[in-house]
Amino acid sequence: MQPSTAAIHAGYDRDPVTGATAVPIYQSASYAFDSAEELADIFAGRASGHVYSRISNPTTHVLEQRLNAMEGGVGCIATASGMAAIAPVCLALLRPGDEIVAPRGIFGGTVSLFQHVLGCFGIRSAFVDADDAQAFRNVVTTNTRMIFAETITNPSMDVPDVAALAEIAEKANAPLVLDATVTTPALARGVDLGADIVVHSTTKFINGHGTAIGGAIIDTGCYDWSASPFTDVSELARKAGPMALLAYLRNRICRDLGGCPAPQNSFLMIQGLETLHARMRIHCDNALRLACYLQKHAAVRQVRYPGLPDSPYAERVKRQFGGAGGAILTFDLNDRAAAFACLNRFRLAKRMTNLGDARTLVLHPASTIFAEYAAEERKALGVGDETIRVAVGIEDFADLQEDFEQALNG
Ligand SMILES: *Cc1c(COP(=O)(O)O)cnc(C)c1O
Repeated sequence: MQPSTAAIHAGYDRDPVTGATAVPIYQSASYAFDSAEELADIFAGRASGHVYSRISNPTTHVLEQRLNAMEGGVGCIATASGMAAIAPVCLALLRPGDEIVAPRGIFGGTVSLFQHVLGCFGIRSAFVDADDAQAFRNVVTTNTRMIFAETITNPSMDVPDVAALAEIAEKANAPLVLDATVTTPALARGVDLGADIVVHSTTKFINGHGTAIGGAIIDTGCYDWSASPFTDVSELARKAGPMALLAYLRNRICRDLGGCPAPQNSFLMIQGLETLHARMRIHCDNALRLACYLQKHAAVRQVRYPGLPDSPYAERVKRQFGGAGGAILTFDLNDRAAAFACLNRFRLAKRMTNLGDARTLVLHPASTIFAEYAAEERKALGVGDETIRVAVGIEDFADLQEDFEQALNG
């Protein structure tokens, strides 16, 4: 099945009793069994089944099947949020003294997790220019246990060369963990790009309507856990083979941390997946048209959108994402006052954080998501005081253009 078909059909056909095709919401904490032996078998790993919804749930299971089929992986674990997907992967793989290498400009929550949380446990992280493969190679050491990247960094709007990073990761015998939140399997499958582990914040485009928080981890099956330096996982690989990491995550890390998704939220993600491909086309089309419009506007000093034909990333966007540049862009006005005045004039676009919503969202990143950063750091990430970020929605473009026109022209 192609990803767009798997998004609708994989993992569930219909309810055998009623014929209902919508995936039921199994709003149940726990599950009853006919015999003590059956329960003992499941706990001993001799049989499979749902026993407690912190570990697995039938609704969430369908979401996991569907996402995994779309990503072409060996398995998937859905989580309570995007951060609740990234943190367990780190905790499964990294030990004191280990190092992460990542491009500068990745999601702020991830940077904070790496520096402030993992940093407390003796795990170091190095951030380097996404476009400088040599800088990447230079910071990789014998302690490097993870290369972490995003398909398009937000809000710096850089497009890392994932194949180049995969090569660096392979040389270091470290898995490449790819956060594909902003591209989704509709634009590219992590497995095709060369990722070993794909993580998503399903809160964004996969949900698509801003109605729930969620995340997911997919193992693409490309990394050989049995020959890895991750002793806990490699021991499991003798029994679980390519499922070793996911088994370790589900039965140890995710189970023990408790970041499981609510069944209702899994249902909302399943519903979002059904229209993901159709929505992404409109999101990306609107974003490109808006970027072109903004580029020509006299009040706009700069537009950063990797899907623009004259973007330095145009070739990479074509090679990695089939030409679609995603649905986030930033643009600069003269100064902070102009940016605030423009933001306050929007009527259709909403002043709010989040992205991947059906609605167009606008935000001043320097005073919000990046308020804690020093001015020079913000500058290096392409977040000036004069910068506005747009998460482009799926409204009719004529209405969007009209709103931007009146907001820009005052
Ligand atoms: C939002 C986001 C996250 C975090 O996801 P939550 O669902 O908000 O926890 C991680 N990575 C990227 C790229 C994001 O945009």
